[in-house]
Amino acid sequence: MRTAYQSQTLAPLADAHAPRFQAYTERQLDRIEPLRRLPAETQFAMRVVASVLPFRVNRYVIDALIDWDAAPDDPIFRLTFPHREMLPAADFERMAALLHAGAEPARIREAANEIRLRLNPHPGGQLETNIPLLDGEPLNGMQHKYRESVLFFPTQGQTCHSYCTFCFRWAQFVGIRDLRFSSMGALKLQGYLAAHSEVSDLLVTGGDPLVMSAAQLSAYLAPLLAPRFDHIRNISIGTKAVSYWPYRFISDGDSSALLRLFERIARSGKQLALMAHLNHWRELEPPAVREAVRRIRDTGAIVRTQSPMVAHINDDADVWERLWKTQTALGMVPYYLFVERDTGAKSYFALPLARAAEVYREAISRVSGLARTARGPCMSAGPGKVEIQGTAEIAGEQVFVLRFIQARNPDWVQRPFFARFDPAATWLNELTPAFGESRFFFER
Ligand SMILES: *Cc1c(COP(=O)(O)O)cnc(C)c1O
Ligand code: SF4
Repeated sequence: MRTAYQSQTLAPLADAHAPRFQAYTERQLDRIEPLRRLPAETQFAMRVVASVLPFRVNRYVIDALIDWDAAPDDPIFRLTFPHREMLPAADFERMAALLHAGAEPARIREAANEIRLRLNPHPGGQLETNIPLLDGEPLNGMQHKYRESVLFFPTQGQTCHSYCTFCFRWAQFVGIRDLRFSSMGALKLQGYLAAHSEVSDLLVTGGDPLVMSAAQLSAYLAPLLAPRFDHIRNISIGTKAVSYWPYRFISDGDSSALLRLFERIARSGKQLALMAHLNHWRELEPPAVREAVRRIRDTGAIVRTQSPMVAHINDDADVWERLWKTQTALGMVPYYLFVERDTGAKSYFALPLARAAEVYREAISRVSGLARTARGPCMSAGPGKVEIQGTAEIAGEQVFVLRFIQARNPDWVQRPFFARFDPAATWLNELTPAFGESRFFFER
């Protein structure tokens, strides 16, 4: 049987250009030609920051997404290229001095690691908590925090086509070893899921699982179509490939095999959702992205979208309005708007919760109901996913109105609770309960 996408020739787009994937790391900054147009000082600052925080960018992002006339303020440039303010000033000066002096790689690495450890490399206690057991043995590479959902980090999917400067998983990309999730094989994943009939959702994440080959992904997912996994109703794949490398779905050697796998899952009666990470409407402009989305949807998979709101990139209601409107018109479903996590270059990218809530409110009020499915701003924190619903004045006190969208304890979900309004707070741990209470209800 021929399927929708098999019956079409790979679009002329693919045949004419069929670009091959090519990425650059911090050691290859000087091979990225358009960078040479920037002041030498800006280029040097990039090398300094990239010696501490991860850097990787691919040719497609350089050529199709970044507006080099607007760099360094271009949002996609800010999204992928490091810049001075991402490091605390003293750390920046220290690394700059080492690079200027031509210090030995070992000394640079040592200084970088010291700085990294001070940047809260593993927020939310993910290393120690939420790691499930199978036959008494910890399954690193998995997290089971919310009753219905298991998060899975396949070993081969722990990198990305390009790295985002604000990424909260940055520590694993610089190989601070004991901060990395190690993973395990398909058999252990199956063993755990078979033993947990309360789990209905599997979320495959990374890094970006779509850096894996179709064959590798299939080895994890195809076995889950067997009857003993009937309780797994939804499979989601977190990815930024849709906008960082749309040719993953068009003209890579195994694009067709990947789409066939999607189709097999979607036709099995489970929902297959691509959780596309999209930060700015500009990512959706190139024809290749639209072609990728069309192909994915042709398989019966749904594309849902999520992104954090970060300063210097998308802290603007106009950006969200256009992003949500464009996504919705292309058949994608806005899902989460996150708050930037308390890690890495947070001091540069963080926004006050009050500001994030205001931008969200303004943007969501301008879109139609179909695009109002984006929940947020949402903090994925220790106790659960906490949404800032807004601000209000209650009994003479200015408060944040909050709720759990997901919680460690399902009974906490959807109960409104209140924190004292604080215009500067950027994360849950900076909030205090309203009305003179000493603890939030979930801390009792
Ligand atoms: C967000 C998240 C999930 C998935 O949550 P949904 O609300 O079902 O999308 C699962 N596990 C963890 C640890 C998460 O942070
Ligand atoms: S695509 Fe996701 S995991 Fe990869 S660098 Fe960006 S935010 Fe991090």
